[in-house]
Amino acid sequence: MPELPEVEVTRLSFATRIAGAKVQGVRLGLPLRWPLGCAPEVLIGRTVLQVRRRGKYLLLDLSEGLLLLHLGMSGSLSFAAQMAPGGKHDHFDLQTNLGLLRLHDPRRFGAAVYAGSQDSEEAHKLLGKLGVEPLTDTFDARQFHAALRLRSTAIKQVLLGGEVVVGVGNIYASEALFLAGIRPTVSAQNISWPRAERLHGAIKNVLTAAVQKGGSTLRDFSDAAGQGGYFQLDAMVYDRAGLPCRVCGAPIKRMVQGQRSTFYCAQCQKF
Ligand SMILES: [Zn+2]
Repeated sequence: MPELPEVEVTRLSFATRIAGAKVQGVRLGLPLRWPLGCAPEVLIGRTVLQVRRRGKYLLLDLSEGLLLLHLGMSGSLSFAAQMAPGGKHDHFDLQTNLGLLRLHDPRRFGAAVYAGSQDSEEAHKLLGKLGVEPLTDTFDARQFHAALRLRSTAIKQVLLGGEVVVGVGNIYASEALFLAGIRPTVSAQNISWPRAERLHGAIKNVLTAAVQKGGSTLRDFSDAAGQGGYFQLDAMVYDRAGLPCRVCGAPIKRMVQGQRSTFYCAQCQKF
């Protein structure tokens, strides 16, 4: 599943190139997670001003209104001047005078939704509950700790929930907890200030590193139609069950939390 770094790298791959583009047509494939919310032809003639990111949503600001794009479980976006006609997994094409923006999404949990403004009800439904952005200064260590103190669920679940901080998905939650030396099952409210501060730093570091790593594969990303957005991560624990911990050599363990796999080192993450 594309996580925040993949979405950010996707944004970087086409934001500059699409800025100023005039919409010439919209093609819809099979239904996505949510309907577009307007007649496709309404968008014709509007200009794409910029592409922003909020959590795992890409926001295409138009000269009037905006499009909210989400990659869901299996989606990827490509933007190119020349592209083959839409295939059976291409469910949203935005044709512009500068190129075609295409959402390829075999499992169709992704979405392209139109909203009249970011304050509109439609936008608020999708963006309203999102926590702070981890890669901005609004992600403050003290406030992070205060928010954890209010939650009794397991820290991994709190990170995945997205209400305290957005975009820390399954891979990066496992990795950040390892780097901070925190057991994924520990109740969020029991995490002391020094440990919360360490976790705060680990979240920033692991996401920043992933964006940088993705940045180096930007060419593949923007050129290849329908390419999945996953980076080869040098994971410390994620997907390494049974392999030796890169720090202490103990075998990495796997467990299931909220139907998602969690990976950790019982030696390095004692409590
Ligand atoms: Zn270890």
